[in-house]
Amino acid sequence: MDFFNKLSDSIVSAGKEVTEKAKDMTDAGRLQYDISKKKADINDKYRALGKKYYSEHRDEKDDSIVSITAALEELHDMERRLADVKGGIRCDKCGAIVPNGSSFCGKCGAKVGNIFEDEDEDIFDGEAEE
Ligand SMILES: [Zn+2]
Repeated sequence: MDFFNKLSDSIVSAGKEVTEKAKDMTDAGRLQYDISKKKADINDKYRALGKKYYSEHRDEKDDSIVSITAALEELHDMERRLADVKGGIRCDKCGAIVPNGSSFCGKCGAKVGNIFEDEDEDIFDGEAEE
């Protein structure tokens, strides 16, 4: 009888161990998820800070600033070419493709396709976040 009691005790304690392991696993999974979310949140904040810093320092000759400006210009050029291929024009404010002949962007309402160049056109503001 003693043998069966010991066996039963060890089965119960093994069961408890498994339950605790499973709990640790779910705790680990939950923590892993929270860590991933926190990292994404931090990256979003870094990104927002970088954008803010860029917009305040875009005239500086720093290599990082210059490379972002060059990349943005390439991006806008590609968007203009895409708009051209699709038979429209690119809104310089939000990047949307507007049908040829439109006067205003259907997405943001900015004036588009005018024959007069907008003097203070600011291609780096209002980046479309799709
Ligand atoms: Zn627009």
